[in-house]
Amino acid sequence: MKYLLLLIVCWVGYTLWRQGRREAIHASHARQQAAPKGRLPQPMVQCAHCGLHLPQADALSAADHRYYCCDGHRKAGPK
Ligand SMILES: [Zn+2]
Repeated sequence: MKYLLLLIVCWVGYTLWRQGRREAIHASHARQQAAPKGRLPQPMVQCAHCGLHLPQADALSAADHRYYCCDGHRKAGPK
C-alpha cells in the first residue's frame, strides 16, 4: 500500500511536469510567431555616375529613371 501511494505521487508529479513543459513549448512557439520579422531587405541600386551601391530609399532618382548617390552626381549625369 505504501508503494502504491508512492507510485501515485510520482505519477502526479510526472504529469504536472509534462504539462508545464508542454505549456512552455506552446508559449515559446506563440512568442516566435508573434515576434516581428525584423527589418525587411531593401532593394539596392547603383549610382549611374560613380557606381556606388546604396539602398533605393537613400538614392536620388533623376528624370532619366537612373539613381544617383548625391545631388552632385545627379547634376553631373551618368558616366
Ligand atoms: Zn555617385
